[in-house]
Amino acid sequence: MERLIRPSILGIAPYNAKPIPCRVKLDIMESPYDLPQGIKSKIKDAVQRIHFNLYPDPEAGTLKEGLADYAGVSPDMILVGNGSDELILYLLLCFGGEGRRAIFPEPTFSMYSTLAKITGTETYPVPLGEGFELNDSKMIDRAKEKPSIVFIAYPNNPTGDCFKREKVLRIIRETDSLVVIDEAYYEFSKEGFAADLSAYKNLVIIRTFSKCFGLAGIRCGYLMADAEVISWLNKVRLPYNLNSLSQEIAVILLAEKAWMEKITGEIICQRDWLYNELLKIQGIKPYQSKTNFIYFETDNPDKVYSRLLADGILIKQVSAGLRVTIGKAEENQEFLDKLIFSCSSKKIS
Ligand code: PMP
Repeated sequence: MERLIRPSILGIAPYNAKPIPCRVKLDIMESPYDLPQGIKSKIKDAVQRIHFNLYPDPEAGTLKEGLADYAGVSPDMILVGNGSDELILYLLLCFGGEGRRAIFPEPTFSMYSTLAKITGTETYPVPLGEGFELNDSKMIDRAKEKPSIVFIAYPNNPTGDCFKREKVLRIIRETDSLVVIDEAYYEFSKEGFAADLSAYKNLVIIRTFSKCFGLAGIRCGYLMADAEVISWLNKVRLPYNLNSLSQEIAVILLAEKAWMEKITGEIICQRDWLYNELLKIQGIKPYQSKTNFIYFETDNPDKVYSRLLADGILIKQVSAGLRVTIGKAEENQEFLDKLIFSCSSKKIS
């Protein structure tokens, strides 16, 4: 069978192949808050209105109008997808492939590399420099060598902070590559590039409902770009790529912005509290974050990870360190207590 597989697929590991059993799940940046009953009731009413026998609105017109209002762009500059992952795939299907290059910082969100490989696009990771900052000059030089697509997560996953805005703008200005700014954590950082879309035709922004809106379960993301880019992407988009239920729920949540802002504020408070607590632990080096997670380093990440897991707390091993998603107050406290214990018992052993 192996000989039948496209060579570029052979080395790829399936994403999240096996769920890891745990009590406190702080690994993949899910919101700790399920929707309140009031919003669930509105969704229940919306479900009654759906014609399940019919295909969804292929243009997701109502959702695009809501998003245009929310993000301050026109509806013809928006494309919606089954999570932002699907939109990354479409970008690579359209602008990547044989003889083309995907350039991204390292470390960053793993799907840029995985989906580039799947689509036969050459991957070109450029290591982050001092203070986890972009090596903009190198990214620009590499982008000039062949048709390229540049991915920049802003803020970055797993390091958690935003890169210098000037460096990002320089990459957009000095290459004719498509530059994709992944603003998955936009509502946490409140820093982004939507206002620059009218100035740069090679700029693409992707965002998601999975994080601040607490809707990871409905798989809904959106992309904003010049209407011409959208029209190219529409050529590779699968028909009816966003189901009726997800469209309805996303529209409802856009009208519940106040709830989203409230939980986002709570997560930010918890994040800042946890960051300050982590600073106090000897042997732990946390990094500032503008997201719902914190990246930290320790001299034995394997051991710390395993000890936490043995206590039922699941975080994520990334790059040379560890990444913890911000949970509810009691979950963060438990993580902290167990981390302190695992660090002190490490010293004794
Ligand atoms: N971009 C970044 C930077 C992410 O960290 C993630 C998820 N961890 C995603 C995109 C994926 O978002 P979605 O759930 O919309 O596919």
